[in-house]
Amino acid sequence: MKRRLGLVITAAVLALVLPVNFAAADPRDDKSQVDDRVKELQQEFEGLDEDLARVIAERDAAEEKLPDAEAASKRADDALAEAIEKDASMAARLTSAENAQKDLKTSIEDGAEEIDKHKTSAARIGRQAYQNSGITSDLAMLLQMAEGTSADGGIGRVDSAVRSQQRTIDNLSEQRAVNKNNEERLSGVTEEISDLKDEAAEAVVAKEAAQVDAKKKADSLNDLISAKDDAEETISDNKASTKEQLKKEKEEQDRLAEKVREWEKEQEKKGKFVYGDGELANPAKGYPTTSPFGYRVHPITGAKKLHSGTDFGVPCGTPIHAAGDGVVVGAGWTGGYGNRVVVSHGKIKGDTIASTYNHNTKVKVHPGQKVKKGDVISVSGTTGASTGCHLHFEIMKNGGYVDPMPYIS
Ligand SMILES: [Zn+2]
Repeated sequence: MKRRLGLVITAAVLALVLPVNFAAADPRDDKSQVDDRVKELQQEFEGLDEDLARVIAERDAAEEKLPDAEAASKRADDALAEAIEKDASMAARLTSAENAQKDLKTSIEDGAEEIDKHKTSAARIGRQAYQNSGITSDLAMLLQMAEGTSADGGIGRVDSAVRSQQRTIDNLSEQRAVNKNNEERLSGVTEEISDLKDEAAEAVVAKEAAQVDAKKKADSLNDLISAKDDAEETISDNKASTKEQLKKEKEEQDRLAEKVREWEKEQEKKGKFVYGDGELANPAKGYPTTSPFGYRVHPITGAKKLHSGTDFGVPCGTPIHAAGDGVVVGAGWTGGYGNRVVVSHGKIKGDTIASTYNHNTKVKVHPGQKVKKGDVISVSGTTGASTGCHLHFEIMKNGGYVDPMPYIS
């Protein structure tokens, strides 16, 4: 079953507006990493199909990268959320500053009207003062009153007139102060708006970059998940047939072991069953061990599987030497082992020991033939369940497969 992450909705939305061209981390590194793993897997599991080994290697590579990709995607999403928040907050601050600017402009206009009104009154006072030869009408009134020429003659009326004129002058000066203050505030707000606009524009750019990055990281993550899921699906599809193939190989291995055991029993019945000095030598001396004897979990079936011998990285066409003195029990074609040679070394320190040489291009001996340690018995190859030139060398102790290395090193 394939699974896709329902990643951040924004990523899907952004896909509509953003360019979609994001290179993977380093494809060449990935390729060589997978190639190396394919070789490794094929060495570890002889006969493992190359395409399947590649699928496993790709699955493993994707799996290995997943935690980092998940973390990177999460970080990018968090950064995007932060950038969106910052953008919104900048926009809000800008709107609020613009509203304040509008209010101040209105206040200043209203104030200017007030000033104009007060100015008119003040001008009238000024004119009166001029007409009264340099003294204000209030003072003139006072003089008239003192001289008893005032029409209605009350001191209260003079007082009221003076107060009213003083109020006009006070209001004018107060309104001027208020407007001066508002002008200063307006200039401050206008400057702030200019700064906020720059910051808001930066926030938009940062948000867009964060969107691109989040989308890129989400795509990488989804690609990995898809690759892993596709690989898992292929592996799962091949599980049953691989199990069947391994079962057949195991049956063949058991059958061949049984044949050797029967042969050995026959020899023991005959009595004398010692062929050499009891010392065995490496049949592929100088070549590296590419896969040791032992149990390992099969990458497709998930079951433990015995690697029944030691693999040596021997090129095809290399002469293979008998590990010790003995008699050839079998030589020729088998299924999974390809061209195989089995040599019995008789009793060594109380145990019945035989050695086998597998995947050969050619066998150079025939059953029943006596061989000496070091004799060429076959030519190496990659026949049977094998995907590369090598020698699969086995030691059978009392009819069972054991680690060959302690016998030959
Ligand atoms: Zn092997």
